Amino acid sequence: MASGMTENVNNDPVWVNTANCKACDICVSVCPSGVLGMRYDSTSTLGAMISIDHPEACIGCNECELTCPDFAIYVASKKDYKFAKLTDEAKERQAKIIANNYMSLDQQGVK
Ligand code: SF4
Ligand code: SF4
Repeated sequence: MASGMTENVNNDPVWVNTANCKACDICVSVCPSGVLGMRYDSTSTLGAMISIDHPEACIGCNECELTCPDFAIYVASKKDYKFAKLTDEAKERQAKIIANNYMSLDQQGVK
């Protein structure tokens, strides 16, 4: 089978086809577990790009994939991947990401 960005080549819980991502923040806003964030990216015409900062916290809820208007983000099948459980720490991180205008908390040089 041909490999491509729509396939999970690295056995990740969640992955992005960056060619399709419009940096709209929607997936970041719906993630319950603080997995996602936006990063400034000068190489993108959009000025920002989605970043999967905490894949280990992904609970496999599929909200990101279901709400992405551009079919740019994908979640592994529950039969292929053992997802995390939602924790208080993850919920708190998500609240901070929302308070940070959906920008990654890990991005250097940005508070
Ligand atoms: S919802 Fe889709 S297009 Fe928007 S930032 Fe997320 S992956 Fe990119
Ligand atoms: S599947 Fe759920 S927990 Fe995982 S990144 Fe998407 S919205 Fe977040």
